[in-house]
Amino acid sequence: MSGASNPDRGLRIGVDLGGTKIAGIVLDGDAAVCAERRIDTPNGGYRETVEAIVDLVHALEQDVDQAGLPLGVGTPGSVLASTGRLRNANSQCLNGKPLGADLASALSRDVRLANDADCLALSEARDGAGAGHSNVFGVILGTGVGGGVVIDRQLITGRNGLAGEWGHTCLPWQTSAEARQPPRCWCGLDSCLEAWLSGPGMTADHVRRGGYNLPAHEIVQRAEAGERLAGATLKVWLQRVARSMAMVVNIVDPDVIVVGGGLSQIRWLYSEVPKIWAQHVFAESIDTPLLPAAHGDASGVRGAARLWPLSE
Ligand SMILES: [Zn+2]
Repeated sequence: MSGASNPDRGLRIGVDLGGTKIAGIVLDGDAAVCAERRIDTPNGGYRETVEAIVDLVHALEQDVDQAGLPLGVGTPGSVLASTGRLRNANSQCLNGKPLGADLASALSRDVRLANDADCLALSEARDGAGAGHSNVFGVILGTGVGGGVVIDRQLITGRNGLAGEWGHTCLPWQTSAEARQPPRCWCGLDSCLEAWLSGPGMTADHVRRGGYNLPAHEIVQRAEAGERLAGATLKVWLQRVARSMAMVVNIVDPDVIVVGGGLSQIRWLYSEVPKIWAQHVFAESIDTPLLPAAHGDASGVRGAARLWPLSE
């Protein structure tokens, strides 16, 4: 195969570990995809998850006929710098586990780990919707909610590995009704952005206002079809997204905010949120672009591969 005949093309493997799927790709030095695979995330737990990633890496290496390639992994949660163990992952079987060390041992190579939203931000800043901008904030709005900061094409992790940990900050500028009934986040805190803005968060909010227990995409479909209650749920969700992003603008004032995750497909985000967030930023108006991820679902896995520099 071509991989064997040209071993210097800078191949890197990226793996995006999600709650339901594990995606893997091989990128070459020009950021072109040489191989890609997708498997179901095992239900069994941590050990099965490690074994599934190891098998996926070996399969990708067979696809390109090379072994020992650098591996980057995007995961939920973050890596505690002092121990190398994961924390804050909504796939809770990962918490407290040294995923990087276990993969490095099983695969006999160095492994770089980063939060999935960090991977999205890195990918989009390098050659996606944030390309050409110095200060990129990437967010994931999906089953979980997270953020990542890339400055001058470099991922910012922060002293405590917490940079961009947007999803587990408190919903800002709360109404009295929101303050009276704060949803409990799985992390143990009340009123986290993840509890308000994730797909399950939108569903819970819809149920609180008397609606059916529907997945977020169906609530949006019903809102677009003119159903009043679904429309109200979507409208309030957009207002909360706007407040939450205004907080980011006040702190890091990014050149662009890029959105990934399943809820990034809600087109109202891009038309409505920029109309609302100016009410909350410390300025009369702002012109920050709010854009969907150019690489769509593939942003996380591309960013994971990019945890190792390409030859660009
Ligand atoms: Zn939380």
